[in-house]
Amino acid sequence: MNTKIPAAPSIAPSMADRDGFIWYNGAMTKWRDANTHVLTHGLHYASVVFEGERAYNGKVFKLREHTQRLLDSAKMLRIPVVYNLDQLMAATNDVVKANKLPNCYLRPIVFRGPEVAGLLPSAAPGHVAIAAWEWPSYFDMATKMKGIRLQWAEWRRPAANTAPVHSKCAGVYMICTLAKMKAEEEGYNDAMFMDYRGLVAEATGANVFFKFNDGKVYTPTPDCFLNGITKNAVADIIRGMGVEVIERAIKPEDLKNATECFLTGTAAEVTPVKSVGEYQFAPGDFSQLVVKKFYEATGG
Ligand code: PMP
Repeated sequence: MNTKIPAAPSIAPSMADRDGFIWYNGAMTKWRDANTHVLTHGLHYASVVFEGERAYNGKVFKLREHTQRLLDSAKMLRIPVVYNLDQLMAATNDVVKANKLPNCYLRPIVFRGPEVAGLLPSAAPGHVAIAAWEWPSYFDMATKMKGIRLQWAEWRRPAANTAPVHSKCAGVYMICTLAKMKAEEEGYNDAMFMDYRGLVAEATGANVFFKFNDGKVYTPTPDCFLNGITKNAVADIIRGMGVEVIERAIKPEDLKNATECFLTGTAAEVTPVKSVGEYQFAPGDFSQLVVKKFYEATGG
């Protein structure tokens, strides 16, 4: 039988079809040539870790911390990486320069390649790539300053003995994509996860802070999700403003005490929040000041 099966439709634009350069396994490679085979282990079994970084005026914010987290994440997934911290930091700076993008988002990634097909990987080291492109703030400035609306996610952040939750690994992002899709379909900007215990955890790609009516700022203890690099930078900024920052377990009902709320993350930067489910906040002077001081700290 000679059945002709039509090709799957391709939808433009595609991230695969762009000009520029991607650092790929040690060489600056033309964007369209930075490819891998369909039998890539990472595609089948999520043996993938990555980073999200931003350059401001040619300088990558917290480059050392992000690069170290990439290596730590790879170690948690037992993916060998042949490049060291200094080599990867230099490669990242080269990508910013080669693409002539002083203000950009960067995506380093480490993944197991197509060396073997089974679950048990080969001893081959991970493949490493670093891409950069212009990606303005996750939320446009007008939406951002009014505050975004979040719904509660249907999914929960898993316990630390359920998944390698402290690595920035692709596998734990499945529920982020699903929660974000549902939120957007239902007219929200994003979703807020509770964790497996029902405590407030984080948004789909960002950590969360609340200013309570006692004048202090609270953020959930990151014991089953990413301890964000932006979160720690923002906590330092707030402490520098003379305001106490407390990391602790936060129950959803505690949010009735919150007057302001904002998200922090490399992509989201500092994004004020207007509501999480039934809880309303008033993005006010405090959030605005944190946004301003964060941009000063990044040099952006
Ligand atoms: N949580 C999740 C799920 C994220 O994807 C991110 C963004 N990397 C964060 C938190 C914030 O991390 P960072 O500030 O290090 O970018």
